[in-house]
Formats: sequence, C-alpha cells, structure tokens
Amino acid sequence: PLTLAIRVTPLGGDLPGSAAVFHDVTELRHLEKVRKDFVANVSHELRTPITAIRGYAETLQGGALGDPQVAARMVDIIHRQSERLSELVEDLLELSRLESREVKLRVQDVSMALVSTRAAEVVRHKAQGKRIALELNVPPDLQARGDERGLEQVLLNLLDNAVKYTPEGGRVTVVGGQEDGRCVVHVHDSGVGIESRHLARIFERFYRVDKGRSRDMGGTGLGLSIVKHLLSAMGGEIRVESQPNEGSTFTIFLPATVPSEATAG
Ligand code: ADP
Repeated sequence: PLTLAIRVTPLGGDLPGSAAVFHDVTELRHLEKVRKDFVANVSHELRTPITAIRGYAETLQGGALGDPQVAARMVDIIHRQSERLSELVEDLLELSRLESREVKLRVQDVSMALVSTRAAEVVRHKAQGKRIALELNVPPDLQARGDERGLEQVLLNLLDNAVKYTPEGGRVTVVGGQEDGRCVVHVHDSGVGIESRHLARIFERFYRVDKGRSRDMGGTGLGLSIVKHLLSAMGGEIRVESQPNEGSTFTIFLPATVPSEATAG
C-alpha cells in the first residue's frame, strides 16, 4: 500500500532529532470514505420520512382534507413518519455520544436476570401480538460487571430484533450462564436468520440485510452498532451465529463479577 511520511519536530525544540510518523494513505482514504458514506446514509435516512411528511401535508392542503377518511389515513402516516424521524435522531445522538466517549458508564455488579426481565417486559406485548413464545432462562444470581442502563439497552435491542425478525408463532429465548470466568448471555430466535455473507457486516451503522423490509418494520439500522459500542465500552463483546430460515443466536460476553477478596488491596 501507499505510505505517507510526516516529519514531526519535537515541540520543546531542545530535544535533538525528530520522529517520523508513517500513515497508511489507504487507511486515511478508507476513513474518509467511511465518513462520506455515513453522511450520505444519514441524509438518505432522514430524507425518506421528511419527503413523506411533506408530501402528505401538501396533499392535505391541496384538498384531501375534504375527505375525512383519506385525511385520517394521511395524518396517521405523517404521525408514524415523524416518530421514525425522532427514533432516528435519538439513535444517531446515542451513537455519536458513544463514539466520542461522552457517555459516562457506571460500571458495577449488575444482575443479568434483572436487566433481561426488564428488557423482555418492553417487547412482551409485541411478542404476544405475533404469538411468539418469549422465554427467559437466566439464573437469578448471575451477575456481570457493566453499566445497568447500558446492559438493559443491549438486551432490549437484541430482543427487539429477535421478535422483529421472527415470524408468527416462533420462539425467542434468553439463556444466561458463565463460561471461562465470563458472564455469557445468548439471545436465540427461530426467525428468518441471516446469510453468512451478511453476518460480518450487520454491526455496521445502517447496514441492513433487507433495507426495504427492515425499514418497514421500523428499524433504523443503528441498533446493533449501538449494542457493539456499548459492550466494548464495558469490556465485553458480541458474536452472532445464524442460519437462513432457521434463526439466529446473538451471544454477549461480559466480565464476570470480581470476588470481593480480589478487589481489596
Ligand atoms: P435494524 O434497525 O434494521 O433492525 P440493526 O442494527 O438492529 O438494525 O440490525 C441490522 C440488520 O441485521 C437488520 O436490518 C437485519 O437485517 C439484521 N438482523 C438483526 N437482528 C436480526 C435477527 N435477530 N434475525 C435476523 N436478522 C437480524
């Protein structure tokens, strides 16, 4: 690859010699492309709901108000699209705060049963509507080192996806345990699954396997990037295994609780 050399003179001036810093130009170009793609993606994602809102508002002004049934349908679309806009803006802000490390995480011992239960309560209604069996199997004493609110968000994003990408009558299960001294939580679903060529990319911002379907389902394409950032800020990680039409398993790994003897001194 091309390399670029920058000569750096020590600021103090009295230190002899200089250091050469080599930057990989291909890496710089790559970062620039990532930034441009991001701006393009954000603009596109914002433009879609804005166009719908403006279009329907203009149609209403143009006379559609005269037909109450048609008008009601349009107002409903305007409402849903504006909700989508705020969801998008919230996710973008959360991601940008995480990336600039502005989010202050309060790392402590967190009960994984508690955060899983809270997250499951949020999606339970949606699961019931699709007759999806939602089961939790997390030992009550399973604890991890992490930020409670952040972990709840992680579980919520994973469960929300699991329910979203699982057809009627399916199954979503959360299983917690310990492995090699780490706290491990699996989120299984019996849903549509993900082809292997997409697996490595689903944690990228705005990457969606099926753009149209995911957008219709109300996704922003940012959920998994937020999950990945939150976990890495807590010293954790996430992995995924999936088979198309059979389902997916997202597994999170977190530092386990340190025994109190080890923290003393
Ligand atoms: P979205 O808001 O679109 O759901 P995410 O960042 O949460 O965005 O996920 C990125 C993409 O990964 C989704 O659009 C979907 O294609 C895929 N995906 C995520 N979770 C699942 C799952 N449990 N089953 C199948 N596909 C999934």
